[in-house]
Amino acid sequence: MPGSLTITEIYKSLQGESTHAGLACVFVRLTGCNLRCIWCDSEFSFYGGKKMSRDEILDEVARLSPGGGLVEVTGGEPMLQEREVVPLMEQLLDRGYKVLLETSGERALERVPASVIKIVDVKCPHSGEPDTFAIENLEALQPHDEMKFVLSNRADYEFARNFVGQHRLGNRVHAILFSPAFRKDASGERDLSHCLLDPEELAQWILADEVPARLSLQIHKLIWDPAAKGV
Ligand code: SF4
Repeated sequence: MPGSLTITEIYKSLQGESTHAGLACVFVRLTGCNLRCIWCDSEFSFYGGKKMSRDEILDEVARLSPGGGLVEVTGGEPMLQEREVVPLMEQLLDRGYKVLLETSGERALERVPASVIKIVDVKCPHSGEPDTFAIENLEALQPHDEMKFVLSNRADYEFARNFVGQHRLGNRVHAILFSPAFRKDASGERDLSHCLLDPEELAQWILADEVPARLSLQIHKLIWDPAAKGV
């Protein structure tokens, strides 16, 4: 179908991460990812999906959130469908939505509309996908954007801390998020025991090194079963 995107799911829930955590949000999850992070909780989005035109997607977003509000375009890696997702984000903005884009920053971000808030997930050494962030994307950052680092251990933390300092991220973006990785097979108990890195330990490191980062917990894993989809 010309002009269509491949979509895994569109649903409304509470935003679980970023500085928008806790707010109602419509998630538009695009199918396909070129990375394979070891703690990925979205593997169901790698394959399959269904073709939807931009108009069909906009209608579904309007049905779920007729009063406007927050929409996150996520995946998978949404920028793999750049040719169609860029105009989709422009149309969402034109309709008055506040648009977030969750991306690894492996693909070029220069064509992302300036008003979209990019949440760029820079992969750390123990993610399974180190060195995938395209450094030229630093130039595409806007002051309202956010940079996220998912951390499994001290080595990941030191990489993130050094990256933040080396590239002066505190002066470039609205927020720097340090988030303990969750075990991808986590289910059942809704508590922090599923974190690969103890949040208390991470908090102590951030304080000791005076990193301009905020500790970010995936609150959707604490509200619902960690294995739940569509939440
Ligand atoms: S980039 Fe995102 S969707 Fe792709 S493997 Fe990593 S965590 Fe999963």
